[in-house]
Amino acid sequence: MSKEDLECSFCGRKKAETNLLIAGLDAHICDRCIEQAHGIVVEEALHSTNSELSKELMLKKPKLIKEFLDDYVIGQEHTKKVMSVAVYNHYKRLLQPKTDDDIEIQKSNIIIVGQTGTGKTLVAKTIARMLNVPLAIVDATVLTEAGYVGEDVESILTRLLQAADYNVEKAQNGIVFIDEIDKIARKSDNPSITRDVSGEGVQQALLKLLEGTTVNVPPKGGRKHPDQKFIEVDTENILFIAGGAFDGIERHISKRLNMQAVGFSASKKEDSLQRDNMLRYIIPKDLKDFGLIPEIIGRLPVLTYMDPLDKGTLRAILTEPKNAIIKQYKKLFEMDGIDFVITHEALDFIVEQAIEYKLGARGLRSLCEAVLTDAMYELPSTEDKTLNVTKEYAQEKLSKSTIKKLKAVS
Ligand code: ADP
Repeated sequence: MSKEDLECSFCGRKKAETNLLIAGLDAHICDRCIEQAHGIVVEEALHSTNSELSKELMLKKPKLIKEFLDDYVIGQEHTKKVMSVAVYNHYKRLLQPKTDDDIEIQKSNIIIVGQTGTGKTLVAKTIARMLNVPLAIVDATVLTEAGYVGEDVESILTRLLQAADYNVEKAQNGIVFIDEIDKIARKSDNPSITRDVSGEGVQQALLKLLEGTTVNVPPKGGRKHPDQKFIEVDTENILFIAGGAFDGIERHISKRLNMQAVGFSASKKEDSLQRDNMLRYIIPKDLKDFGLIPEIIGRLPVLTYMDPLDKGTLRAILTEPKNAIIKQYKKLFEMDGIDFVITHEALDFIVEQAIEYKLGARGLRSLCEAVLTDAMYELPSTEDKTLNVTKEYAQEKLSKSTIKKLKAVS
């Protein structure tokens, strides 16, 4: 075959009709077919990452997300609803096909305000579990501006990489929960604290991560040192959830509400306020008054609050969630063939103790442990196959030294 007779094995064009004809083992391909094939490859790749992502994410509709949360988190209706929508929108944003209508869906990073132990971390954990994405839980108090003693903000991404087994793709679609975000509020208004190492500077550093940027992350964490190879992580699609107790923010809220009330039917406004949880009236301005910089607040557009845990909620936490504490003990005993029963009065008693000692939900576990340790120690070696915990039994076990220790913790 002469050179002029060669043709593209895909479209059949003669060499003369092409700009370029590339020879393979026993076929040829022209420049046009290469371009077309390239287009197909790109399209396929985009399609398959998206569908893979959606498979991995197991994205559910907001109502289903909320139902999933209901299985693990008691109460906190407002936050569960708001977060279901935010998470749904966040992942919809990731899955959106590339179109040219210029409508870019922005991130829905979340900030949760609520007392410690009300379930902020639990909500983040549950959502990550549902979506099957890696989760990093970090404490804002250990973060400092680069150059100070403490951890650089990049360490957050090191944690996320670790949670994702160093799969960068997975990490880039993960969730970061930043606890105690209130502790990096600007403290200049507070005369008792003179240095501000971990204040505004850290907020500025965090801002970059929240905005979406590419960060060189030291894979093993720690200080950057020259020999360490960095991993590039793009934070564009990471969902950030910040949480904090914001102690004293109620004052800002009340002040604002009272000010607003002046001049237009003040007394009526007063009456309709539900004073049990002023957090429900929180708006971004209150966070600003507390000391978060406006840019950070802007990057955490979904603001929600937690309700304090009342007696009924604490009681439900003991027995209702899918992995409720009492269910866990039941299972532990079951493994030794022991039938564990606990009376309502005993459960109420444990809740009362948690309230009395201001231990919150976290204390429920320690209290149960204190009540059940003796039984867990002794029963497996005996023939006893039933454990019936009454109020009196619980009282007796708690009256021993452990309760004093619990009190010291509070
Ligand atoms: P926070 O992050 O607000 O300080 P956590 O999420 O760490 O609180 O809650 C501490 C523990 O208390 C959780 O592991 C969980 O067992 C329990 N808990 C708190 N709030 C709830 C809730 N609303 N529903 C179920 N369990 C809860």
